[in-house]
Amino acid sequence: MKIGFVFLLSFGLSFSYAQEKPLEMKMDFEDYDPPSSLVVEEHKLARSKFPFIDIHNHQFSMPIQDLSKLVAEMDKLNMAVMVNLSGRGMGSSEHLAKAVENVNKTFPARFVVFTNVEFRGIDDPDWSQRAAKQLEEDVKKGAKGLKIYKSLGMINKDKDGNRIHIDDPRIDPVWAKCGELGIPVLIHSADPRQFWQPIDNKNERWLELKLHPTRRHDTDPVSWETIIQEQHNIFRKHPKTKFINAHLGWYGSDLKKLGQLLDEFPNMYTEIGAVIAELGRQPRAAKAFLTKYQDRVLFGKDSWVPDEYETYFRVLETEDEYFPYHKRYHAFWRMYGLGLPDEVLKKIYNKNAMKLIPGIDEKMFGK
Ligand SMILES: [Zn+2]
Repeated sequence: MKIGFVFLLSFGLSFSYAQEKPLEMKMDFEDYDPPSSLVVEEHKLARSKFPFIDIHNHQFSMPIQDLSKLVAEMDKLNMAVMVNLSGRGMGSSEHLAKAVENVNKTFPARFVVFTNVEFRGIDDPDWSQRAAKQLEEDVKKGAKGLKIYKSLGMINKDKDGNRIHIDDPRIDPVWAKCGELGIPVLIHSADPRQFWQPIDNKNERWLELKLHPTRRHDTDPVSWETIIQEQHNIFRKHPKTKFINAHLGWYGSDLKKLGQLLDEFPNMYTEIGAVIAELGRQPRAAKAFLTKYQDRVLFGKDSWVPDEYETYFRVLETEDEYFPYHKRYHAFWRMYGLGLPDEVLKKIYNKNAMKLIPGIDEKMFGK
């Protein structure tokens, strides 16, 4: 009796599907994700081919963290050095000092800590001098670079409520001081350009904006172009300071333009954090780009999710075809491997970062 009922039910269901004409059947974009029937070679990589430096990482509890756990996870990936860009945590000198102390006591060769700048108080007449002095002290304490968050140019305001421009001349002494101290500035400005575009069926980041509505900037008074322009202005104005433009400067989908920027600003470098899907969808152009600019691009990841590094290794190292990316809201398209030669891989994985960051032990990289 029961079997007969199940049979009837399933028969009835398949019957009703068959009734619907395929072209009339509506399906959500999010649902449509058929398994690929493509049979090609697969090279899944849990570790990178050469030890690497992750120039773009955030660890917010470094002063009290058990770093041996973190090191064990890094070892699995072949990550030799992690750069923690959030050296000051939520912005305190004590946080920075304790983070450096923890690292120095336990794994001094495995971590690099960058410091940050506090823009509150920028209206005080002595802010510029104070900020530059603070930076100098942080470097004395052990910071090896400066990270500028995207809040500069977007959120940070002066006492009158005006947006602080990235190229505000009051910040000039800070950029100049970094050049003087020989430390790089890793700067993240704005967000993907699509966050400023209408959220509709023409927007490549539609799913991301749907899932994370706070990321939308389509009604912001300041345009993407304005913020990016301000960032380029400081590269131009401070040729003696080395800038690492985070996330391919948000030009990962326009490598020709990114190449022009690298040509225009010899002091600009870039990194691939959170934008590997841009390279993975244009393997021929990306390989040509990374070959031409092999001295200017660094490995970065941003969010600390160890399982996601595999996509990066696979895109950079293999010639695999049409494989999935780990987050559908970054890429509803599939990846293709670039198959970069060893010499280029070594530069992206470690040599370029070693040139920019003072004091990394070269022996960790087999030299
Ligand atoms: Zn970041």
